[in-house]
Amino acid sequence: MTAHLDTLLGFTIPSRHARGRMVRLGPALDAILAAHGYPPAIEKVLAEALALTALLGSTLKDEDGQMTLQAQTEAGVIELLVCDYRGGALRGYAKFDPDRLAEIPADPSLFALFGKGYLAITFDQSVTGERYQGIVPLEGASLAEAAQSYFTQSEQIPSLVRLATVHDDAGCRAGGMLLQHLPEGEEGRERLHTRLDHPEWEHVRLLGETMSTDELTDSGLPLGDLVWRLFNEEEEVRLLGESMLAKGCRCDPEHIASVIARFPEVERREMTDESGLIGVDCAFCARRFEIDADSIAA
Ligand SMILES: [Zn+2]
Repeated sequence: MTAHLDTLLGFTIPSRHARGRMVRLGPALDAILAAHGYPPAIEKVLAEALALTALLGSTLKDEDGQMTLQAQTEAGVIELLVCDYRGGALRGYAKFDPDRLAEIPADPSLFALFGKGYLAITFDQSVTGERYQGIVPLEGASLAEAAQSYFTQSEQIPSLVRLATVHDDAGCRAGGMLLQHLPEGEEGRERLHTRLDHPEWEHVRLLGETMSTDELTDSGLPLGDLVWRLFNEEEEVRLLGESMLAKGCRCDPEHIASVIARFPEVERREMTDESGLIGVDCAFCARRFEIDADSIAA
């Protein structure tokens, strides 16, 4: 049996002016998590954040563009959670306080984990060099709810966001769906009025809400079949291309050396230890790289 994992599928429902995408992560997620050994509560929120990052990042039309999702708090158990997406590659990590995590319930709410926090979503277009950032308070019962308010508040697009994770003998899996209403002619234009209760959107949203979290994380269920299961009574559902996702990081020694080379020599000397090495940590991979300072100065 083929496992339908690490894939993303876009679709549209033309007669309802709706578009959506679904993602299901498996081995790519395990590869990201393997570097860290997070406790279950941290793993769950990071896995959901990675599914969300894939859903949002894949909307970039620019292959080299980057989408970054960052959750930051003033005094949360999780201080910082960062995920990014570039050309189908995902990475992410969370910085948290293990002592405080031990004091909160085993299945903590979003608020218990982050306290008063913010969700920042940034799109960097590599071709035009444009940067777009939306920031919303990290509110709601779950990350999916926080993402939904990002779309309604920051983007003014009626949206449904569903995220789910499961960790069993086969490893960790995360699934997500983003469903949006884009009335005719409004795509890519400033929206002056947003109707969150438009009847055609209500209809699509209710169908989307019938999806169970088990369906989202079921590796035996192709995403196209799931789309069909939810929306088969619609006049037309168009499946767009399916794409693959993988763990990816840019922390190879060569790239790190090129970044260090941009520092003034005085600063480089300060970074260098007694054995002539510059140590650089990659928080995404929980790895330390030691670069020979002389190889850069040359
Ligand atoms: Zn890395």
